[in-house]
Amino acid sequence: MVTGGVASRGTLLSLGATPRMIDRARSLHILQSVRRGIYASAQADLDQRRAIRLGGKVACLSALRRNRVWAGIDTRLHVCVRRSAHHLHVQEAASVGLPATSRRSDTNFVADPGAPRVHWQRSEHREFDESSYQRDWLMPPLTSLRQAVLCQNEEQAIASIDSALRTRFVAQGQVDRLFTQLPARLQHIRAEIDPTADSGNETIVRVRLRRAGFIVETQIPVPGTSQFDLLIDGVVTLDVDSRQWHGDEAQISWDFDKTLCSFGAGLPSLRILPRHIYQSWPQTLAVIRRTVADAKELREFRRMGSR
Ligand SMILES: [Zn+2]
Repeated sequence: MVTGGVASRGTLLSLGATPRMIDRARSLHILQSVRRGIYASAQADLDQRRAIRLGGKVACLSALRRNRVWAGIDTRLHVCVRRSAHHLHVQEAASVGLPATSRRSDTNFVADPGAPRVHWQRSEHREFDESSYQRDWLMPPLTSLRQAVLCQNEEQAIASIDSALRTRFVAQGQVDRLFTQLPARLQHIRAEIDPTADSGNETIVRVRLRRAGFIVETQIPVPGTSQFDLLIDGVVTLDVDSRQWHGDEAQISWDFDKTLCSFGAGLPSLRILPRHIYQSWPQTLAVIRRTVADAKELREFRRMGSR
């Protein structure tokens, strides 16, 4: 289904279906009426059905996540409804969701059960051209990104913009437009965008370290191995490991080699996991400070000795 599993009656008719064909598809359970005049095929996932049942469209973080764009740590369903919408079926949408026992991955992005985060559409943005077949259930890219920036804290907002650029979810020109639509209090984050970041977590660490006063360079080549995510004050390499699972022996072996290559190049190396960012950042930052300070002191000491 070119419409992505959900379509309005109007869209189906514009694609050449006849009322008779729609009736027949419904009677054969190929199409199911999710809400008056809107139909879903078997291809439609839970996020799409919940958004439509509630009376809105998949938006904000949920729209980003299904396009493999970084959408932070809020896994609720984000839905956008028209300003004029009423009788929202919130309870109905809240009662279903991906069971907590299911593991999320890049291909399993469906939101948690519970009350969705509802966004009210400010004005009718005609960003999708009228021929877009997904317009019945999905908010367009730039609108979704703007919602996601406003819906998250600054560091997660920057991570979403980095990721949206890197994955080509939006183009640079659209990010220029985005900032014309953002309030004055958020204009300063523009200088912190860097789409070379490999992951949202890498962006978060980069932003936090720069804000803490470190000079942070990104995607640093070291002889004999792959690039390091970050180089701090020119003396310590840091990789942000976003993998949830560590079952990949080849990857672990490669990471050991990487650490050796960095030390071999005279650069002490650190490797951190998401929990070091979100659960124990003060301790993590203290370790980074100490390691960087020691490395700078050693460099200075050698410089003096060589005079
Ligand atoms: Zn949102």
